Amino acid sequence: MNHNELKLEIELIPESTMHLNLRNRLTSYQWRQFSQDIQKRDQYSCCICHRVKGDTIDKLHCHEIWTFDTDVQVQYLNGFQSLCFQCHMIKHIGFATMNDWVEKYQLIEHFCTVNEVSRKQYAQHFHDAVQLWIARNQITWHVDLGDYIS
Ligand SMILES: [Zn+2]
Repeated sequence: MNHNELKLEIELIPESTMHLNLRNRLTSYQWRQFSQDIQKRDQYSCCICHRVKGDTIDKLHCHEIWTFDTDVQVQYLNGFQSLCFQCHMIKHIGFATMNDWVEKYQLIEHFCTVNEVSRKQYAQHFHDAVQLWIARNQITWHVDLGDYIS
């Protein structure tokens, strides 16, 4: 399986930069306003599974998209996307719901449905994502929020 073909991927943020994001730089009011602008841009639908707010889902989250440049040790904020709860939780599954077996089971089902893959392929992807996370935790990252913060 080529991971580039997955629509929904696990993206674990390094331990040292987990809290160094735009969300934590804004007040909750500012973040809510910002998140609503992104939802409007995304036509109130999940950018990955395309479910629509008010239809089969009642809420959208604003996900921060990061890219990692290992050579210069910089983690760049590259944009935002509206995601449903399940897609968003899968992105951060290393930190979320690990102790709640039922919820985790539902997330894995969602991952398999969206990506049209088997549970075995999920397990392989999870393993790879954790290995990548461990490798990234060895690096001292500088976080670049770009133009999103003055
Ligand atoms: Zn979704």
